[in-house]
Amino acid sequence: MIEKDGYIRNLLQKSPGVAAEARGWVKTRRDGKGVHFIQLNDGSSFQDLQVVIDAGTVPEPTLAQATTGACLRVSGELVASPGAGQAVELKAREIEVYGPANPATYPLQKKGHTMEFLREIAHLRTRSNTFGAVFRVRNALSFAIHRFFQERGFLYVHAPIISGSDAEGAGRMFQVTTLDLMNLPRGQASVDYTQDFFGKPTNLTVSGQLEAEIFALAFSNVYTFGPTFRAENSNTPRHLAEFWMVEPEMAFCDLDGNRRLAEEFLKYIIAYVLEDCPADLDFFNKRIESTVLQTLEHVATSDFEHLPYTEAVHILEKARDGGRNWEFPVFWGADLQSEHERYLTEEVFRKPVVVTDYPREIKAFYMFLNDDEKTVRAMDVLVPRIGEIIGGSQREDRYDLLLDRIRAHGLREEDYWWYLELRKYGTVPHAGFGLGLERMMMYLTGMKNIRDVIPFPRTPGSAEF
Ligand code: ATP
Ligand code: MN
Repeated sequence: MIEKDGYIRNLLQKSPGVAAEARGWVKTRRDGKGVHFIQLNDGSSFQDLQVVIDAGTVPEPTLAQATTGACLRVSGELVASPGAGQAVELKAREIEVYGPANPATYPLQKKGHTMEFLREIAHLRTRSNTFGAVFRVRNALSFAIHRFFQERGFLYVHAPIISGSDAEGAGRMFQVTTLDLMNLPRGQASVDYTQDFFGKPTNLTVSGQLEAEIFALAFSNVYTFGPTFRAENSNTPRHLAEFWMVEPEMAFCDLDGNRRLAEEFLKYIIAYVLEDCPADLDFFNKRIESTVLQTLEHVATSDFEHLPYTEAVHILEKARDGGRNWEFPVFWGADLQSEHERYLTEEVFRKPVVVTDYPREIKAFYMFLNDDEKTVRAMDVLVPRIGEIIGGSQREDRYDLLLDRIRAHGLREEDYWWYLELRKYGTVPHAGFGLGLERMMMYLTGMKNIRDVIPFPRTPGSAEF
């Protein structure tokens, strides 16, 4: 095992003149006159360690195997590097080849691979510059999320992955069953779920929110952070069948408190990643999306705007009357589409915007009904370049009103018995929101396809690896 000190990330910080040993995979190899250069990377940093091998120092058969893709241990001495881009390089004295990689067949060549091709070699794309940067950022982001909530006393809850509740109609669900649905017993027309593994229909969870509410009503401030599943049969660059969600839930909290926490949260995690992964972000800014750094720094430092849905619709209608052509019509009661969201955050306010108090008809049944009886205490956080990044609400904590909403949505009261009981025993105003981790990743990196910010994407027709 590499000790902390031995990672390339740390070797690169050391002064010339010390003995050092590095282990990693060869990114590229270049042969000069009487000298060979190897770019070695162990995943610890964007920057490779340059290994310099003077002719004659290592046996020919060893050198012959030290090609792109091979896994090596190199020991020698750190020396000042005359080349640009690094302070030190490793002058090799000894090389051990753990595993060679035939240069004629190694799939990851130096340049020119498309993202689509790299997806097909997900077992090797992790060694490329782009995916090295993606997964270091994903790691830093995950840690920042935990740190933000832990610093504020939030309890981390593991919501179940197999769910017996029909959550919220958030999307199409994956059924979990051990029954052979293709071959029902003779004479049986429909599935008898009492015979199924759990004795009832179950599915992979689409959200941990309802379970998080149970915990908030005992632990005050909680968050879930785990995988969620939606059988969306749409091939878009923004949807996965399996993705990760972060869902804080706070008791003694209303929509205002929820909105303020969401703003603080976004600023915190962006600032953390900016500080922890400067080289990776620099790469995304140069090679993937030239506005990444600028927008992130902007979001981390600006005060978010907030306005009710009704006002947002006025602004969008005014734009239409002024000649703006909306693909999707704007009127009070219509859901805001991406074009509307981006207009508000990119052109009108030029900073993150929180839209609140949406019409009840277009939002979920569990959202708190305002006194106007037309709108609910929902909020969407909109950011430049993406549109909606967070959705949340104050929850309906009044028993009778919640029951009305459940019925009005055509849901079955008995499926929500425990959710209703939380309103019967020790109910309290509470609120929370959800952030899709991969959407946040796209925002941080500028990567255009959500399949390229998760280690192993699951999408319609694709579950290799
Ligand atoms: P969208 O309109 O983009 O499909 P949604 O309204 O279905 O999103 P929510 O039900 O509010 O989304 O889910 C909470 C968050 O989870 C979203 O804001 C988004 O960040 C993320 N999310 C939702 N569906 C997916 C998906 N299929 N793949 C990846 N992330 C998703
Ligand atoms: Mn959706």
